[in-house]
Amino acid sequence: GDRTARVDGGAGEIGELAKSFNAMSEKLAETERQRQAMVSDVAHELRTPLGNITGWLEATQDGLAEPDPHLIGMLLEESLLLQRLVDDLHDLAQADAGTLRLHPEPIALDDVVDQVVNAQQNREILLRAETTPVHISADPVRLRQALGNLVANAVRYTPPGGEVVVKLFQADDRAVIEVADTGTGIAPEDLPHVFDRFWRADKSRSRRTGGSGLGLAITRHLVEAHGGSVSVRSTLGQGSTFRISLPAGDPADPC
Ligand code: ADP
Repeated sequence: GDRTARVDGGAGEIGELAKSFNAMSEKLAETERQRQAMVSDVAHELRTPLGNITGWLEATQDGLAEPDPHLIGMLLEESLLLQRLVDDLHDLAQADAGTLRLHPEPIALDDVVDQVVNAQQNREILLRAETTPVHISADPVRLRQALGNLVANAVRYTPPGGEVVVKLFQADDRAVIEVADTGTGIAPEDLPHVFDRFWRADKSRSRRTGGSGLGLAITRHLVEAHGGSVSVRSTLGQGSTFRISLPAGDPADPC
């Protein structure tokens, strides 16, 4: 039912007060609905890997499965998924509480890009970086995390034989990182939702490929915490380009 309190204050000053009270009350009710949806999503995400782990351990105990390397590999995979999910939830909780602290220092952004690209090399996709030297003040660990999520997605949603290019350049007083893939692309009606928590275009496929549905929400938060912004362009069936824009000094006047 509708648990929003309402006050009818009529006209004048009391009327204005009543209006802002009602707006506040509706906002609280909406926040409460979002909180409930979030808890329900978290429970749902935890249930599948936990259920698999429990099931396999019970089958082993009952003598229906062998505790062989294959089984241990599957158990480890589900545990890692749980760990990633809990780490991501912790980051978002800190972001909401305003306690996620950045540790900015002068960094070479091209090094961050190279590190992320080298860490995610794989045999099935051509992954390469095109960088120019760009120096900014930022938290290198958190930027690696933010960019790492974009590159992991680009690799995840690009079929074998495809290509992922990570470009870094400076445009006026902005440092720009673009992650372009030749993958599945995103439907126009889905584009406004990709940065939402737990949102996925295809629940079952993403679940199998190990995404938590929180990566882009975290990336957006981390980039905005640096005073930057993140955006996406995509054509279904052709590929996507995610773009991070960060404040940088004047290139002609390095500080
Ligand atoms: P996930 O862990 O599911 O990848 P994200 O928050 O990182 O969660 O991404 C949310 C959803 O956005 C993905 O499930 C996918 O549907 C879509 N998406 C993200 N990046 C890409 C990409 N490069 N190409 C196609 N779809 C993407």
